Amino acid sequence: MRVTSSWITSSAATRLMSMFSNAGEEAFFVGGCVRNSLMNVPVSDLDVSTSVRPERVMELAKACGFNAIPTGIEHGTVTVVADGEPFEITTFRKDVETDGRRAVVVFSDRLEDDAHRRDFTMNALYARADGTIVDPLVGLPDLLARRVRFIDDANQRIREDYLRILRFFRFHAWYGDDDAGLDPEGLAACAQNIEGLSNLSKERVGAELIKLLSASEPERAVAAMDHAGVLNALLPGASTKAFFLLTSFEHSVDPIVRLAALGRFDVAKILRLSKQQGRQYEALRTYAEGAETIREIAYREGKKMAWDVAALRAAFFEQPLDASLSAEIEKAAKAKFPVSAQDLMADFSGPALGTMLRDLERAWIESGFRLTYGELMKKAGRDGSV
Ligand code: ATP
Ligand code: MG
Repeated sequence: MRVTSSWITSSAATRLMSMFSNAGEEAFFVGGCVRNSLMNVPVSDLDVSTSVRPERVMELAKACGFNAIPTGIEHGTVTVVADGEPFEITTFRKDVETDGRRAVVVFSDRLEDDAHRRDFTMNALYARADGTIVDPLVGLPDLLARRVRFIDDANQRIREDYLRILRFFRFHAWYGDDDAGLDPEGLAACAQNIEGLSNLSKERVGAELIKLLSASEPERAVAAMDHAGVLNALLPGASTKAFFLLTSFEHSVDPIVRLAALGRFDVAKILRLSKQQGRQYEALRTYAEGAETIREIAYREGKKMAWDVAALRAAFFEQPLDASLSAEIEKAAKAKFPVSAQDLMADFSGPALGTMLRDLERAWIESGFRLTYGELMKKAGRDGSV
């Protein structure tokens, strides 16, 4: 097997890899870009591993006219931009000390060392510039079987970095074989090490959970997380019942909507989502539990929020979506309230004007946006001919 994707034959990748070979050095593509290319799924970022030390990577890049940014130079990472394309170049590393959250690393000359400190066999595949695979830990059979398997001893891997528990479920959600299920040894090790999750920062947990919930079909992974006790350790009181229904009702994949289906959590405290995600979560939960019609939500918040709330309510109340929902949402999202404050100024002012405007808008929404300008002005005590 070889990597033949367009990114590896691009002039940016070719020039970058020549920079190493011309200097008599070795470099390999690694991780997600190799894994995803072999699985024929889109690649998000390009990571390169090399024995070359970061300071020398900077020198080589500058000598080739590439922009080199020392993004994480103390732990070995330099971002090199070639033809506008960023490559994350990281020097081979070896863990010398781990505490379950972060590791003390030393640079290494051996690719094998670099492979052994990664998480799953399918994430420790390397590719040369010509696309040929280097597979020091025999990850290819796992990749082909879509089996997410810890490198070496699962328990030990997890104790080095408890985030790997979440990554195990995340990678299964994205790339695992649901029929075969999750690797039993990995699953047992996750269940055994749940207490370690409390060591992790909210940011890391939140980011992993959002990635997991962004998979197109995360149900099996979430069910396994639930059975292993991981879900409740992260989100106390979480329940998967509505979540499983939601995935059959949802209009589009949105991790925040899925999170809202799992329960009501103080997401800001537990996960430290972005401000925008936190606001979206609160709005979803408030609307899902509130009395506003989907029509009103579509009018006020737009189509997406209306679909999301409709799907959440259907999941919570175990009722299918209404067949007329699509037409109703389309109409409501386009509706324009025909009356403005100015139209009422001759008769109303101050708070009374605001109240009248709101009352009229409510009546108009309840009419299914059918009340006309004239009918609304009549309600306001005007004959509408103004
Ligand atoms: P994605 O497409 O989601 O970016 P990825 O495999 O590139 O997938 P990253 O989180 O970007 O995932 O990590 C890049 C690589 O670094 C992984 O493939 C893995 O080899 C290694 N890695 C990242 N995080 C860890 C970790 N916590 N423990 C061990 N290895 C890790
Ligand atoms: Mg990546």
